Amino acid sequence: MKFLQYTSIRQKIIGIILIVTIISLLGGFSFEIYSYILTLRKDLVNSISLNAKLISDYAVPTILFDDETEAGIILEKLKNIPSVLHGDIVNEKGKVFAEYFNKEFPDTSGFHQSENLLSNNKIIFISEPILSENDIIGKVNLVASTDIISEKSADHIRFIIIIFTLTSLFAIFLAFMLERIISKPILELSKTTRKIQSSGDFSVRVNKTAYDEIGLLYDSFNDLLKSIEERKVERDVAEAALINERESLEVRVKERTIELSTAKEKAEESDKLKSAFLANMSHEIRTPLNAILGFSNLFIEPGTTEEERHEYIRLMDVSGSDLIKLIDDILDISRIEANQVKVSLSECDVNEIAREVFDTFRQNLRDEASESSATPVLRIPDQNTDIVMLTDRLRLKQILLNILNNAIKFTPSGSIEFGYFLVEANKYITFYIKDSGIGIPFVKLETIFERFSKVADIKTKHYRGTGLGLSIALKLTQMLGGNIKVESEERKGSIFYVSFPYLRLNRLLPEVKQPLTEETKLSLEGRVVLITEDVDWNFHYLEILLGSVAGAKILWAKNGIEAVSICRDHPEIDLILMDLQMPEMNGYDATKLIKEFRPELPVIAQSAYAMNDEQELSISVGCSAFIAKPFTKKQLFDTISEVLSI
Ligand code: ADP
Repeated sequence: MKFLQYTSIRQKIIGIILIVTIISLLGGFSFEIYSYILTLRKDLVNSISLNAKLISDYAVPTILFDDETEAGIILEKLKNIPSVLHGDIVNEKGKVFAEYFNKEFPDTSGFHQSENLLSNNKIIFISEPILSENDIIGKVNLVASTDIISEKSADHIRFIIIIFTLTSLFAIFLAFMLERIISKPILELSKTTRKIQSSGDFSVRVNKTAYDEIGLLYDSFNDLLKSIEERKVERDVAEAALINERESLEVRVKERTIELSTAKEKAEESDKLKSAFLANMSHEIRTPLNAILGFSNLFIEPGTTEEERHEYIRLMDVSGSDLIKLIDDILDISRIEANQVKVSLSECDVNEIAREVFDTFRQNLRDEASESSATPVLRIPDQNTDIVMLTDRLRLKQILLNILNNAIKFTPSGSIEFGYFLVEANKYITFYIKDSGIGIPFVKLETIFERFSKVADIKTKHYRGTGLGLSIALKLTQMLGGNIKVESEERKGSIFYVSFPYLRLNRLLPEVKQPLTEETKLSLEGRVVLITEDVDWNFHYLEILLGSVAGAKILWAKNGIEAVSICRDHPEIDLILMDLQMPEMNGYDATKLIKEFRPELPVIAQSAYAMNDEQELSISVGCSAFIAKPFTKKQLFDTISEVLSI
């Protein structure tokens, strides 16, 4: 049966139809032939029996009258029945009275001995009694051949074979025609399967044409395709996501690798910078300290002239400023990096800020007796137009001054131009600081904004500085939403552009008082000033400035508690200089308490911490101004003049 595994479904269907048809036909026809033969035999027996009966009736007188001749004539009639082979009439004594032999079969001797014939299938033996008035007077025996049955059966079988052959041929034809009904949809299914297999397209469907089991199979097949298609779509989506993920992972890995190597380079660079910074810092700290110590020794040297002393004091002052700048820069950068710097935005008049920055810058030049002979120039595009921007005034000034101070530092001669312009239909305001100084090598243009980076060649000339200024300036600018760009050419000069998004405000600002000039003198004649200060020499410094120089009457509180009680006892006090960090009670709490009973009394906070939030906090508790230690006489006097409006 193994060959069936390799037989096609068509062949199987045709084979089954043919086998069933042929078996049915063979069965039917066999039965038919068998019945036909039985019928023929029955008919022959009946016919012979009838003839035997007739002969027995006619034979009665011949026996009664013992007429053998007549009996022979009667029997002779049997020649009309070809099947009869032999016939005889015997009397009651068993003697053969008359006998008939078929000439076609010469050897019929012994046929009258009926017992020999009974077992022979090819022979029919009929014995009919001859009755006369119900007495048996003899019997008629007839022997017939069944050959006629065989002949007729053979004819019939031939006919049946022809019918069988024709029916079989028709069955084959029908099998070929009908097998398609079953095989076609199955072959269609397998064709579709192969098509899907080769194309991989699961959107193909088979068309259901019947509602039988094949129809159900089609439905199941279509459902299967649908679910495979859905799975395929899901798989494709997942695959696409996976590919995407892999690609993005590769990109991320590349990016990370680049980032890491950049970070590594940066870390190495920063490490180098830090080491350089420490070496530099040591140098930077020792240089001014050396000058301060050295000149203070020289100052008390006997024989030092008044003029020399003035010069020593100036040099000590410059060195002190350098130290403060260094400390301020370090504090600033660490606060920025610790995200502790807050910007407080307010509406600022740009022209006014530009003028203020420029004035301060020029003043610093004068104060510090700069080595540069460069001429600073201020360019304000339109003096009469009110340009108002939202920014942190102090921070903006710090940024611009930082860059201006660099400009003068790196410009031995020539010019320094400071100004601003509006760009892109007033979307941005850009301050610029242009110098004709030593310039910056192209490759260093980006690194100068990194912490502790210094470009200027230390071997050729030493420039003062920590390498933090531009880093601070850039970070503050970014905090204010802006950016710094630089263009530079070595030995020709540099231009720094500091840009901020600009929002034009249609509001005029109240006029701001012009800053005091160097020549401004302060007179506090007849006024009482309370100095709250826990450090003796700080108090003495203030006492000299405000008492001896400005002519005020001075009271001294060494902590917050004393300050509050002195204020209660001396209602004539006009001004308090409040140190914020003091033992027992700090300046903030003391100010709060004093403000409860002297709300109008001006308080100037002073602190060595110089942080933006200290300033904000002191203003929030009621101080009128804040001044960071150490401060110059001018800074102090300017602040007092502003607070007392004198
Ligand atoms: P520094 O305290 O050294 O001035 P900065 O961060 O302000 O630190 O500047 C970093 C470096 O950038 C400087 O050391 C200098 O080499 C270079 N630089 C800054 N401004 C100028 C300029 N206007 N001209 C030439 N070089 C400059």
